Amino acid sequence: MQPKDLTQNEGFKGFTNHDCPFLPCHEGVRGQFNCLFCYCPLIAYECPGPYQVFTDRNGLKRKDCSACTLPHNGYRGAWNFIQKWLERPVVWDGGEQTRPYRQKPVRKKG
Ligand code: SF4
Repeated sequence: MQPKDLTQNEGFKGFTNHDCPFLPCHEGVRGQFNCLFCYCPLIAYECPGPYQVFTDRNGLKRKDCSACTLPHNGYRGAWNFIQKWLERPVVWDGGEQTRPYRQKPVRKKG
């Protein structure tokens, strides 16, 4: 087995669970639908996703990530995105998203 930084095999960077009854759980995903980060590792941290904030029944601020495709956009793309944002994690303060990442519209071929 090679250390992940040396291997050419990128199979650990993602997968699509075709048996999942919720697939596709988000519209507008780019590339292969990556299910590896189904529970986003950035949920408790600052992130660039287009989340909405709501208060749960216990009075806690939570992110509603329904509109976010960032952890699902391709095997390599989603992997790189998550790794980048976990390098220097900053605990989310419960605030609204003020600088959401703007995904470029998908170009239609033809
Ligand atoms: S908005 Fe996107 S990147 Fe941010 S925590 Fe939610 S799913 Fe993850």
